[in-house]
Amino acid sequence: MSDLAGRLAGVRSEIDDAARAAGREPGALTLIVVTKFHPASLVAELAALGIRDVGENRHQEAREKAAELAGLGLTWHFVGQLQSKKARQVREYASVIHSLDRESVVDALRSDEASVDGFIQVNLTDDPGRGGVRPDDLEPFAERVLGTPGIRLRGLMAVAPLDEAPRPAFARVRDLGERMRRLAPEATDLSMGMSHDFREAIAEGATHLRIGTAITGNRPTRG
Ligand SMILES: *Cc1c(COP(=O)(O)O)cnc(C)c1O
Repeated sequence: MSDLAGRLAGVRSEIDDAARAAGREPGALTLIVVTKFHPASLVAELAALGIRDVGENRHQEAREKAAELAGLGLTWHFVGQLQSKKARQVREYASVIHSLDRESVVDALRSDEASVDGFIQVNLTDDPGRGGVRPDDLEPFAERVLGTPGIRLRGLMAVAPLDEAPRPAFARVRDLGERMRRLAPEATDLSMGMSHDFREAIAEGATHLRIGTAITGNRPTRG
């Protein structure tokens, strides 16, 4: 077994264990392998190992890889901060955008023809630089998304803060998700959990895991 296959198998079995421990069905979780900074060849290896969902956080890099691997039938998830002037281009290859956090981005995705799945990113810190909507602003922002043709709201996305235990932070996301469902009953998904905290995220109801280095190995440094 290659190192990549070994790490993937290890993470998969940990996901299964965490799901069962939480009384959840492992098959209900979507594993997105975040492949940023890695070459398209690594994404192709992952596809050969059965991965269908891949995540990227930079538009240029994501677009190139998606074009190169167009024949593989992968689902591309955009998980990085998004500029409104790039938003329409991202929709051309990405089926899911996890980082809706600005009205200008939402407005740029308005369309009567094309459609994209979207998660609202919530900021669990006090630092606006970390991206995401402030919890206090969630309802008006969700209304904006719901009023925008071309976006199908799936749920919430979050990154755990660096200076806090992940589990209570993910519990806050779960609560915010329940709050938002009063406005958007179909938006039941929670995109949370990365290499170091996916077990805690599963315990708090994550439906979409965004896991990079635990599967891919360390990211190559940027050239
Ligand atoms: C890079 C990244 C991940 C994956 O991080 P790892 O720690 O490598 O698992 C998940 N989500 C987002 C938004 C990212 O940018």
